[in-house]
Amino acid sequence: MNQNFDVLIVGAGPTGLMMACQLLRSNVKFRIIDKNSSPAHESRALVIHPKSMELFQNLGISEVFQKAAKRSIGVQVVVHDKVKVDLDFRNIGIETTPFPSIYFLSQAETERILTEHLEKHGVAVERGIELASFQQTSEGIAGQVFESAHLEYSDFRCHFLVGCDGAHSKVRHILGLPFEGAPYEQEFLLADLELKWPFAHDKLSLFLGSKGIMAHFPLTDQISRLIISANKRKSEEQPTLPEIQDAIQDFVSVPFQVSNPVWLSRFHLHHRIVPTYQKGHAFLAGDAAHIHSPVGGQGMNTGLQDAANLAWKLILVLKGIAPESLLETYSQEREPVGRKLIHTTDRMFTAVTNSHPWIIHLRDWFFPQAMKMILSSAQARKRAFHFVSQLAIHYHENMFIKDTENSGSDHHWAGKRAPFAETAQGSLFELMKGAKFQILLFNNPDGNGSELQDIGLLYRGLVQIHSFQENNQNAELFKRYSIQGPAVFLVRPDGYIAFHSKGPGLSKLKEFLQNIFSFIPQHVQMLPDEIVL
Ligand SMILES: Cc1cc2nc3c(=O)[nH]c(=O)nc-3n(C[C@H](O)[C@H](O)[C@H](O)COP(=O)(O)OP(=O)(O)OC[C@H]3O[C@@H](n4cnc5c(N)ncnc54)[C@H](O)[C@@H]3O)c2cc1C
Repeated sequence: MNQNFDVLIVGAGPTGLMMACQLLRSNVKFRIIDKNSSPAHESRALVIHPKSMELFQNLGISEVFQKAAKRSIGVQVVVHDKVKVDLDFRNIGIETTPFPSIYFLSQAETERILTEHLEKHGVAVERGIELASFQQTSEGIAGQVFESAHLEYSDFRCHFLVGCDGAHSKVRHILGLPFEGAPYEQEFLLADLELKWPFAHDKLSLFLGSKGIMAHFPLTDQISRLIISANKRKSEEQPTLPEIQDAIQDFVSVPFQVSNPVWLSRFHLHHRIVPTYQKGHAFLAGDAAHIHSPVGGQGMNTGLQDAANLAWKLILVLKGIAPESLLETYSQEREPVGRKLIHTTDRMFTAVTNSHPWIIHLRDWFFPQAMKMILSSAQARKRAFHFVSQLAIHYHENMFIKDTENSGSDHHWAGKRAPFAETAQGSLFELMKGAKFQILLFNNPDGNGSELQDIGLLYRGLVQIHSFQENNQNAELFKRYSIQGPAVFLVRPDGYIAFHSKGPGLSKLKEFLQNIFSFIPQHVQMLPDEIVL
C-alpha cells in the first residue's frame, strides 16, 4: 500500500467504521485498515444510545438500525432471588430526540451495518493489514504496515492518522502517550449460552450478591449473555461450563440449567484515559483513548461520538478552508467527556461491586430503593436518561463555539446538542441530514435578506439554510429553542450548536463563519466543487 492519501484510519471496530462513514461524505482520500482478517463475531457492546441513533440518522442509516435492533427491554433488579425493581423503558420520555429509547443490538451487527454502508459507497475495509510503525514528518505522517497475506511490509504517507485501534492501541504506544488509570481487582466471567431459570429471559436483569454483581442480557431469543463478577483470577484459561454454573450459584439459589455455550471468556476491567487525544498529526478515538467498566453501556457509543466530532474538522482542514487550530478542539471537547465518563462509571461500578459485608447490606437495600425513587419521578427519570443516553453531553466555548448570550443563562445555547422537534417542513433532523453546517433562522433575523444572500453565496455548498416562522406547526420547535423574537443558530455536522445569537441582524454569524472558514477569501464568487461538503 505504497501510496499517499489524506487520512489513515487504523482499526475497523465501531469507532473506525464511524470515522470512515463520516469521511465518506467528502472527497477526502482515506483508507481504513484492520489487522484481523475477518470481522469479530463475538458481540461486546449491546446497547445503542439515542445520540448514536441520531448520528446514524444523519448518515441516512437509522432505519436499518431500527429494523435490526430491539427497542428497549425491561430492566429488573434481583436480590436474594426476589425481583425488587421491574421497569419498562420502551419510551424514556425524552421529547428532544426522535429516538427516545435505548436500542439493543449486538456490536457485531452494528459493525456489519456500518461496513455495508461503506461498501455501498465503494469503500472496503482493508483487512489483514496491521499498522507496524509511523513517525511524524513536516507534512504529516510516514509509516509502515504489515500485510499478512503477502507477509510483507509496505510504506505509506498521509496527512493525518486516526488510531481507532482499541484498548491495546499501537498508535497510542508509538505516540508514547500514557494510559492513566488502574485495573479493577475483580475478575469477570462472560458467558453467552442457553439458560433455563425462573427469571425473565427478555429483560436486562441485575443480580446483586455477596460477590458483586451478575448482569443478564437477552442476546437472541434463545441465548442469554451473563456477565458475572467473580473471585480473583484462578487461571488464564477459558472458563468451563461448570465454573460458570458455580459463579451463577453465588447469585441465585433457585434451580437453573445452562447449555450450548456460544462464547465463554474471562476478563479484567480497567479505567484509563490518555491525557490528550491528539499529538501532532495523529489522533486517538474510542477505546484507544479511554476505557472503563461497561456499566451504562457507554464505551462503543462514546467512540462513535469521538469519531463524529473529529471527522468534520479533518474534512475542513484537509479541504484547506479551516485553520489547523480547529483540530485542537477535538481533544479539548472530547477528553473531558471521556474523563467524566470514567469518573461516573468508576463510582457506580465500585458501589455495586464492593465486597464489604456492611456495604453489601446497605447496597442491597439502597440500590433498588434509589432506582425506584429516581424512576418513579418523571423529572428524575428524564435527568437520569439524559445522562445515560449521552444527550446531555455539551462542550464548553472555544475558538469555534460562540454565543452572544452569557454562559449560564437559559439562552446560552452554543456547545449544546441541537434538540429535535417537528416543524412545519417535517422532522428537523431529517431537514438537517448530511455533512453540511445548518443555519436555523427564527423570525426572520435578516430583515431585507441581504446578509443572508451574502452567506448563501459565499458558503454555498458548506451550509444549508432553514427559515422558520412562528405558527402552530412550528410551536414545538420554537419552544424547544426558547425563541422569543429573531434568533439564529449554526449547527455543526455532528449535531452540536456552534453559534447562537438573539436579535435582528446576521453580522455576528458572518463574523463567526469567517472565523471557521477563515481560509476562504471573502471576494470569492463561488466555491470550487472540491470544497463543497
Ligand atoms: C463485555 C463487554 C461488554 C460491553 N458492552 C458495551 C455496551 O453495552 N455498550 C457500549 O457502548 N460499549 C460496551 N462495551 C465496550 C465496547 O465493546 C468498546 O467500547 C468498543 O468495542 C470500542 O470500539 P473501538 O472501535 O474503539 O475499538 P475495538 O472495537 O476494540 O476495535 C479496534 C480494532 O482495531 C484493530 N486493530 C488493533 N490494532 C491494530 C493495528 N496495529 N493495526 C490495524 N488494526 C488494529 C482491531 O483488530 C479491532 O478491530 C463492552 C465491552 C465489553 C468487553
